[in-house]
Amino acid sequence: MPLTNMQVRDLENVVHPYTPLHKIRQTGPMMLDSGKGIFVRDDQGKEYIEAMSGLWCTGLGWGDEELIEAGIEQLRKLAYYHNFAGKGTEPQVALAEKLKEVAPVPISKVFFTSSGSEANDTQIKLVWYYNNAIGRPKKKKIISRMKAYHGVTIASASLTGLPYNHIDWDLPLDFVKHTTCPHFYRFGEPGETEEDFVARLVRDLEELIAREGPDTVAAFIAEPIMGAGGVLVPPETYFPAIQQVLDRHDILLIDDEVINGFCRTGNWWGAQTMNMKPHTISSAKQLTSAYAPLGAVMIPDFMYEAMEQASAKIGLFGHGFTYGGHPLGAAIGAKTLEIYQKRNILDHVRGVTPTFLKRLHALADHPLVGEARGRGLLGAAELVADKTTRRPFDPKAGVGAQCAKFMEKHGLIVRAIGESIALCPPMIITEDEVGELFDRYERALDETEAWVNKEGLR
Ligand code: PMP
Repeated sequence: MPLTNMQVRDLENVVHPYTPLHKIRQTGPMMLDSGKGIFVRDDQGKEYIEAMSGLWCTGLGWGDEELIEAGIEQLRKLAYYHNFAGKGTEPQVALAEKLKEVAPVPISKVFFTSSGSEANDTQIKLVWYYNNAIGRPKKKKIISRMKAYHGVTIASASLTGLPYNHIDWDLPLDFVKHTTCPHFYRFGEPGETEEDFVARLVRDLEELIAREGPDTVAAFIAEPIMGAGGVLVPPETYFPAIQQVLDRHDILLIDDEVINGFCRTGNWWGAQTMNMKPHTISSAKQLTSAYAPLGAVMIPDFMYEAMEQASAKIGLFGHGFTYGGHPLGAAIGAKTLEIYQKRNILDHVRGVTPTFLKRLHALADHPLVGEARGRGLLGAAELVADKTTRRPFDPKAGVGAQCAKFMEKHGLIVRAIGESIALCPPMIITEDEVGELFDRYERALDETEAWVNKEGLR
């Protein structure tokens, strides 16, 4: 198909993140134009079920008038103010109060950022600041996991455990150490039970801490369910077992709820779904249902007290972003949380989850699908060349990307993470819409299967 004028203008002017830059000149970008509920339309008028909530973020879908009004009202009243040098705004206060009310563990204060990457960058800095304040200047290393996603700034990209965020970017920085990914289907060894697998991961972590020296390891960061690594659900016993090791070595647990947070996994927080007891929490994305950029770091009492002491030593707390807690984001965030509560979004998610998971798990019967996994309204099916041996496709064959293309043809926007085809629909999705989503997904899988056979890719 020849490129449209808009596609050509886009290609001449815009850099596309997470896109094969060497190919996009031929394929052109998909230009999105409008959205309503769980649907978006491209600029050619084609409608899609947006089954990824954009980037796992528009939990309330598109065109929510109450959120739009909250934003407009705030822009009219006070379009901008910062929170440096002791200033503050009412929307931030309202949102911080709400976050503390719904938090999974006791929280003292909230530090606002504009994004998830900034939130995780801030987490690292706060852990360092804290350990300096309490006289442990050597305790600075952060443990993350292979396949984790924590952002793209230099520090948060270091936490991320994915090759395309490290190769040719001179990352990760040395203070970050990655341990084993808790995805049993892919990383379990032949003959190993799930219990043995968790025991091995605990040993791996113990060994890593011993190698590095426990007095040099400050924190462990984890998404309860790993999102951008492929929607990887750990065994139920994983976090309690890992947490015992961390406690023994006085290592803080940072919970990255940027995708999991706000009802997505069937609880307010992924930590509740996955039995995690974090010390600090990062959130973003569904915090505002993505109607404005915002991130938040939720800080416990003991850390805030140390921050006060450190600030007394130097004269002030030297960290903050111009747009951290922007009144637009904060007002929309406060309204988003109010909506989650008053429209009972958690109950709604729990109500449609059985249908969603039933259809998701049924995908495992498809000849292409090795594993179908998920919790709440978050899931993925992993395509494999051989179901029995779990042999993956050659990544160069681009099976996942081709499958996502077929999905688009059938009016469904998904995310291909390698060969895992992820789903994270707006949480307002109805039972009927879940049915339609999976009907389209299955049609595209069948088409992918035919293409794989035709191309001889097995
Ligand atoms: N943490 C997690 C778990 C994420 O999924 C993401 C984004 N996908 C981030 C952090 C980074 O957020 P942002 O893109 O807003 O910087």
